[in-house]
Amino acid sequence: MSKKVLVLGEAREGALRNVSFEAIAAAKTIAGGGEVVGVLCGDAVQSLGEELIHYGADRVITVEHPHLKQYTSDGFSQAFMAVYEQEKPEAIVFGHTALGKDLSPKIASKLDSGLISDVTAIEGEGDDAVFIRPIYSGKAFEKVENKEGLLFITVRPNNIAPLSQDAGRTGDVSSVSVDITNLRTIISEVVRKSTEGVDLSEAKVVVAGGRGVKSAEGFEPLQELANLLGGAVGASRGACDADYCDYSLQIGQTGKVVTPDLYIAVGISGAIQHMAGMSNSKVIVAINKDPEANIFKVADYGIVGDLFEVLPLLIDEVKEL
Ligand code: FAD
Repeated sequence: MSKKVLVLGEAREGALRNVSFEAIAAAKTIAGGGEVVGVLCGDAVQSLGEELIHYGADRVITVEHPHLKQYTSDGFSQAFMAVYEQEKPEAIVFGHTALGKDLSPKIASKLDSGLISDVTAIEGEGDDAVFIRPIYSGKAFEKVENKEGLLFITVRPNNIAPLSQDAGRTGDVSSVSVDITNLRTIISEVVRKSTEGVDLSEAKVVVAGGRGVKSAEGFEPLQELANLLGGAVGASRGACDADYCDYSLQIGQTGKVVTPDLYIAVGISGAIQHMAGMSNSKVIVAINKDPEANIFKVADYGIVGDLFEVLPLLIDEVKEL
């Protein structure tokens, strides 16, 4: 049976996040030839609708309200539920982002639905789709099927390839008007830490440092390498706890989960809690002076050496490319 699928797109600072396009691709697989409807919530998102259609949505519904300028679970759940009631889809897809992780259980409970969270791949399509998701902090993967009722999934960023952009694709962008009320939280101002360059969760290359980097200044060459490779800097909790960098860079079980094409771990031992956030990276390079370091168990390429000697050489090599 073909399905109508609602996909929540995410925008930040006036631009759609990549995970929105990845979620559309997942929705296409699930829809089995049915309709994929993008949903955008915000204070000014109407102009972004067309781009979702270029990436595969059949049509887009926007909900605009001043209270949706910043994400709150109360505001976004009211907005999304209004679209749900209008559309009555058979399936829902969110990104497994900070927003998606917060909002999806709330919506699932309102709809009395199950939730298949953190999907990293989909086998088959339509009613035969099987969802693959990590368990036990990424040590194993389980396959989950949804045989009846609403299908609700969240997709891990950087795992499902988006469809190629087709600027010639057209579709309807309409709006639903919702009176957003009874907010328990109103966010009037957001202070963002300024991070250089690329968003860590969506970066194709991550250069991550650990306690071995030894200081905040020690992170400067990591940033240089990340910039050269068009990537972002991440960190272990050890490095964050030692105040070498901000907690917003922490990767792992209690930090961000990343799946870049290339993960370079510098002076990181490879604790299980760290690996939970990066072990699915496509290629892992580890630099560590201890040949027994756990990180080498998941590394595709290992360099045993002093990072203060290896990193400058690596930077010089990359500059030559
Ligand atoms: P260390 O374990 O101290 O490793 C430093 C490494 O640097 C060593 O392997 C050493 O050989 C190497 N090194 C030192 N000097 C050099 C040099 N000059 N050149 C090359 N290599 C060098 N951790 C996370 O990262 N993310 C999480 O989300 C997370 N969540 C946690 C949740 C819980 C409930 C708990 C209990 C822990 C969590 N941790 C997490 C902490 C985790 O257990 C580790 O303590 C932490 O990951 C260690 O960080 P590290 O590898 O930087 O430091």
